[in-house]
Amino acid sequence: MLGNYKIPAKTFPIVAEAEVIVIGGGTAGLIAAIAAKRSGARTILVEREGFLGGALTGTYCTQPGFFGDSDENHIIKGIGWELMERLEQENAAIINRKNWKVQIFPETVKKVTLEMVVDAGVDLYLHTYLSDVLIENGLIKGIVVQSKSGRQVITGKTFVDATGDADVAFLAGAPVEQLDSDKLWQTSVDLKVCNVDPAKVIEWANENDDEILTDKIPEPKKDYSGISPMFEFIIMSDETELVGGGLGIKHKGPMPTVKLLIHPSLSRVQGSVEIDGTKVKDLTHAKIESRRRAYKHLEYLKEIVPGYEDAIVIGEAFLGVRETRRIVGDYKISIDDLLNNARFNDVVALNCRALDRHLKGEIFEIKFLKGNHDIPLRALIPQKIENLLVAGRCLSCDHESHASLRGAATCLATGHAAGTTAALAAKGNGKVRDIDIKTLQNLLKVQKVILNTSK
Ligand SMILES: Cc1cc2nc3c(=O)[nH]c(=O)nc-3n(C[C@H](O)[C@H](O)[C@H](O)COP(=O)(O)OP(=O)(O)OC[C@H]3O[C@@H](n4cnc5c(N)ncnc54)[C@H](O)[C@@H]3O)c2cc1C
Repeated sequence: MLGNYKIPAKTFPIVAEAEVIVIGGGTAGLIAAIAAKRSGARTILVEREGFLGGALTGTYCTQPGFFGDSDENHIIKGIGWELMERLEQENAAIINRKNWKVQIFPETVKKVTLEMVVDAGVDLYLHTYLSDVLIENGLIKGIVVQSKSGRQVITGKTFVDATGDADVAFLAGAPVEQLDSDKLWQTSVDLKVCNVDPAKVIEWANENDDEILTDKIPEPKKDYSGISPMFEFIIMSDETELVGGGLGIKHKGPMPTVKLLIHPSLSRVQGSVEIDGTKVKDLTHAKIESRRRAYKHLEYLKEIVPGYEDAIVIGEAFLGVRETRRIVGDYKISIDDLLNNARFNDVVALNCRALDRHLKGEIFEIKFLKGNHDIPLRALIPQKIENLLVAGRCLSCDHESHASLRGAATCLATGHAAGTTAALAAKGNGKVRDIDIKTLQNLLKVQKVILNTSK
């Protein structure tokens, strides 16, 4: 700190007003905005980027599963599932309707989500950054946004914080939690790489299957146009060890892994680093260091995996931050809730995603869960604020359960729940604790949200 500079009070124009204001048009926020508007509330969506989808599109997330649990129950439907089916119609998703796992082509997600938000009639502000919150006696009156148009105010009745970092809750003075940077799930940059020869990679994998860790090596195909199921494997090293349990790839060990969406124009190459995603110098360092690691990873693949020789980087995902601030809500979900399939009277969504742990030093661990558990509305309500909900990865939970709850499909589900809740609250006095939970749950069921899987 070099001291303080006192900025004289200024007056900013109120440029828009709505019943529900959603801040952050990422995975959870875009769904929250659609849900709020379809539930009858005039809705504004504010997003700092020039596209929607956040980590679902911007970081090149290719596997937004788990939409189904270990018993093959479909647990996440509603608007998030509608998005998956829209992508399938565009040949940009592969849906397995037995285990409800989905693979997506992230660039098409940007196109489809924008169409869905516009078609729903949401009033959209892209390239608009939330910079402050106007709060009086525990009630948020409006937000201050910064854009090329300058500083402006948007007022509303009920607010949804879908910024991933709980920016609204934090600026409103609600209690938040955050671990030290070396304990947070690490941050990644994914290179978008094209010109990898899938046939050669598969042939090499078959010849070296004792040196790689994978689920199943796909059959070679003559034609790789369109998208085929993702082929993901880990190149074993002395430090790689198996972690037991569940289906899919299980490893504890350093990268590199190969993530090949079988399409000559898309392979993901990741570099990761541990930082505090709420500190701008850390974010800057992460961009430099994780990009460097991703390029090093690619060099390694070019050297040892035939098919990668002519790989070309065609783009870089935005910095993928997995964990920062989480709200302290009226209820805090714990790892025991996940392991014991916890049930709550105020259930608004279900979750079953594996514990996906990205640890310090590019170590990756995955542990699969049995069954599913409830997400209570109280975990989406920050303490001390009357008219605010959160959706997505900044919900109220402990660090261990966050490894599961931040999964993209689960963020789609909490987005739907928060949007519909906000619309109901805004039809009343705006306060989220005053809504009738049964009315909300009935409305969510009408909107095809699954709230229990008992037969
Ligand atoms: C590299 C990476 C890979 C991943 N891969 C997978 C995967 O394969 N499968 C899986 O299930 N999960 C995956 N995840 C996790 C999952 O994608 C995310 O946890 C989830 O998408 C987060 O959703 P969200 O809505 O909370 O946040 P986001 O999707 O990040 O949305 C937050 C939005 O808020 C906007 N925003 C933030 N601050 C402001 C502000 N002040 N003003 C205005 N707008 C703001 C952002 O631009 C963004 O659009 C991955 C995560 C990362 C980082």
